[in-house]
Amino acid sequence: MNIPFVDLKLQYQSIKDDIDAAIRKVIENANFIGGSEVLKFENEFAELLGIKNCISTANGTDALYIALRMLGIGEGDEVITTSHSWISTSETISQTGAKPVFVDVEDQYFTIDPKQVEEQITSRTKAIIPVHIYGQPCDMEKIMEIAKAYNLFVIEDCAQSHLSMFNGQLIGTFGNVSTFSFYPGKNLGAYGDAGAVISNDDELAVKMKMFSNHGALVKHNHIMEGINSRLDTLQAAILSVKLSHLKSWTKKRQDNAAKYSSRLQGVGDIELPKERPSGEHSYHLYVIKTSRRDELKKYLDSKNITTAIHYPTILPLLPAYKRLGYNSEDFPVAYQNQQQILSLPMFPELMDDQINEIVETIKDFFKR
Ligand SMILES: *Cc1c(COP(=O)(O)O)cnc(C)c1O
Repeated sequence: MNIPFVDLKLQYQSIKDDIDAAIRKVIENANFIGGSEVLKFENEFAELLGIKNCISTANGTDALYIALRMLGIGEGDEVITTSHSWISTSETISQTGAKPVFVDVEDQYFTIDPKQVEEQITSRTKAIIPVHIYGQPCDMEKIMEIAKAYNLFVIEDCAQSHLSMFNGQLIGTFGNVSTFSFYPGKNLGAYGDAGAVISNDDELAVKMKMFSNHGALVKHNHIMEGINSRLDTLQAAILSVKLSHLKSWTKKRQDNAAKYSSRLQGVGDIELPKERPSGEHSYHLYVIKTSRRDELKKYLDSKNITTAIHYPTILPLLPAYKRLGYNSEDFPVAYQNQQQILSLPMFPELMDDQINEIVETIKDFFKR
C-alpha cells in the first residue's frame, strides 16, 4: 500500500461537483479580483469564528506582515515569538524592520513557553506572536495575562489551527488580531495561495483592508502606500465550498489522531502527541517523537509510507538568523524536539486500514 502524507486528490473527488460549479461560475462571470465571492467567504469565515472583521489576503505570510505593519510595528521594536514554527512567523517581523526575539517551547506541547516570553520583555518589546503549532492551542490565558500586564499586542498565528480551542474558546479570538493561511495542505486549503487576518478591532480592520489593497478602500483614492495582497476570486469561491466541510474534516482529523494514539501506545520509545488538557487540538499534523527518528523515517519510506519533519531546523538556528547569534543551548527543549519529531500521514480522508498499516509498520520497525 502506498500511503501519501496528504491526499488532496481524494478530497477533491469528494466535493468535485460543488467545486467545479463554483469555479465555472467565477470564470463565466469573468470577475477575477474582488467581487461577491470574496465578500461571501470573508463573512462566512468571520461568522464561523465569531469575529467582527475578516480581511482576506493573498497568503498567510502576508497576513502576518499586514497585521504587524498596521499595529505600527517597525524599526527599533522587538517582537517575541516561538523558536518552533515556519519561517513566515519570524521573517515578517524582520520585514517590518523590527527584531524577532525567539524563546523556547513548553516541555510537552511544542508551543511557546509563556514564562520565557515574560523573561525576554524589554522596553522595546511591542508584541507577542504565539503560534498554535500543529493545531495545538498555546496557553492563551498566560499569554494574554502577560500582554495585559506589559501592554503588548498579541498576534495569533493560526495558520495550522483552524477551529482549535483553548478553555472552550476558539483560537484566533484571544489576541488583537489573528492570521490564517489557506495554503492547499492546511486544514482549510485553497487551490493555490490564500490567507486572512481577523480582528474585533474595527479601526485596525479598516487599516489592514486598506494596506492589503494599495492603501485604498475606494479605487484610486490611496490614503497611504500599501501592498497588493488580495485573495483571488477563484480561491474565495473554492474556500466557501470547502468551509462548509471544515467542522466535519476537523472531527475526522481528531478521530484519526485518537486511533493513532491508542494503537501506538507503548510502541518502541515513541512519545505520542500530548493534548493540552484545557485545549482542543485540530491536528493539522500528528507528530510523534522518537530517538530513532531518522532510521524510522527511512524505514517507512522504504515501505511507501510518506512522513515529514516539521521542521528540520528550529528558526533561531537557521542560517537566516545567524546574525542574532543564538545557539542550540538557548533552546534546549525545541532543539531536542528538532532531532526527534516525525509527522505521520494526517488528513481527514485517511482510512482505518491505512492507519493500521502505518501502525503495524512502525511496530515492525521497533521489533527489528
Ligand atoms: C503555513 C504557515 C504560514 C504561512 O502561510 P502561507 O499561506 O504559506 O504564506 C505562517 N505560519 C505558519 C505557522 C504556517 O504553518
